[in-house]
Amino acid sequence: MRRETETVLVGDVPIGSDHPIRIQSMALTDTGDVPSTVAQIKVLVEADAELVRVTVKDERHARAVPEIKRQLKAEGISAPLIGDFHYNGHLLLKAHPDCAKALDKYRINPGNVGIGKHRDRNFEAMIKVAVNFDRPVRIGVNGGSLDQELLDRLMEKDRELPKPEGPKKAFREAMVLSALESADRAIEYGLPPDRIILSAKCSDVRDLVDVYRDLAGGCNFPLHLGLTEAGPGLPGIVASTAALSILLAEGIGDTIRVSVTPETNESGGPDRTREVLLCRHILQALHIRHFTPSVTACPGCGRTASTLFLEIAQEVQAYLDQRMHLWKKKGYKGVENLKVAVMGCVVNGPGEARDADIGLSLPGTGENPSAPVYADGKHVSTLRGKNLTAQFLKILETYVQERFG
Ligand code: SF4
Repeated sequence: MRRETETVLVGDVPIGSDHPIRIQSMALTDTGDVPSTVAQIKVLVEADAELVRVTVKDERHARAVPEIKRQLKAEGISAPLIGDFHYNGHLLLKAHPDCAKALDKYRINPGNVGIGKHRDRNFEAMIKVAVNFDRPVRIGVNGGSLDQELLDRLMEKDRELPKPEGPKKAFREAMVLSALESADRAIEYGLPPDRIILSAKCSDVRDLVDVYRDLAGGCNFPLHLGLTEAGPGLPGIVASTAALSILLAEGIGDTIRVSVTPETNESGGPDRTREVLLCRHILQALHIRHFTPSVTACPGCGRTASTLFLEIAQEVQAYLDQRMHLWKKKGYKGVENLKVAVMGCVVNGPGEARDADIGLSLPGTGENPSAPVYADGKHVSTLRGKNLTAQFLKILETYVQERFG
C-alpha cells in the first residue's frame, strides 16, 4: 500500500499521494550551453522523463535557464525544469529572478548551503525566493555532503551511550534529521508543507533502505527516491534496482531517479536516457506503471541448439520499443500492458505463449519444425520455414491494431 503524503504540484505535475510515481532525470550538459541542454532535455523527455533537473552553479548558468525554458516551451515540452543549487544558491536565486521564475522547483542541499550562522541565513534566503515565486523545493540531503556539525553532534551523543551503536547509526540518523529539521525550518520561513519534497540519498543499498524507512515514518512529505552515485555497468543497475524495488514495494517513494554512470551512445557521447529506461523498467517490473509492452522469453538451454529464438526475442522487443512511439501517438490505449512471449521449445513454450496476450513457441532441437502462435490463449496460426520473425511481427501488428486501434 502506498504511503499517504501531501500532494506537491511541480509545474503541472502533481507528485505524491496517489499520483503516479514520477520519473526524473538530470541533464549532464553545461547548463550555459543552451542548445545542448535543450537537446538533451528533449531526448530525456522523449525517453519518458517527466521532470528534468539542471545544474545552476554560476551566473552564466542562471542567465541561461530562462532561455532554456523558453526554447523547451516553444518545442512543446512542458516537463518541469528543476534547478540544482549548491553553495551559492541564495545568491543566484536572489540576483536572477528570471531564473528563479523559469524554474519549476529548486533543489536545495542542506549540507552545503553555508557554515554556522550563514547556513541558516542562506537557507532562509532560498526558501524566501521559493515562497515569493510560489515554487516547491526539494530538500535533498546527500550522504556525500551531509551536514558535518549535525553528524559530529550525533556521533558524540552515540559515544556517550552505555552501548554505542557506532558511526553507521549516527550517519543514518543524521541523514533523516537533516532532512526533517530542514523541512521544519522551511515551514518556519513560510514555505507551505505542500511545497516540500524530501530526499536523503546515499550510495549504500542497506543504508538507503533504512534511511528512507525512517524518513517515511517521520513525515508525510512526498519522497524523491534514488541511490546516489550507483556507479557504472551492471553493479550500478543491480544496486539501484535492489534499493528502489525494496522501498517501492513497501509503498515508499513518489518520484524516482536512477543515478548510474552513463555509458557511451552510438555517437560516442554519454547515453543519459539509460537511467530513464531503468526507472521505467523498475516501475514496470513491479506493476506500478506500464510504459511499453513486455516480452517474456526463456533463457534457453540444451534443448535449443541455435540462437534463433534469442534473435527473435530481441527483434520482437526492438520492434515493440520502436512501434510504441507510433501506437502512443495514435492513442492505442492500454497497448503498454501488452504481454508478448517468445519461447524456445515445447517444454514451457506453449504454456507461456498461451498465458501471454500473444505468444510464439519455437521448436527446440529435434522437435517438429513448426512454431505455433497463440493469441488470447487460443492457437491462431502455425509458422514454418524461414523469416519466422517477419511472419510473427505481421500477426503481432494485426493483433495490436485490432485490439487497441
Ligand atoms: S522453454 Fe525449452 S528452451 Fe526455453 S529454457 Fe525451457 S526447456 Fe529450455
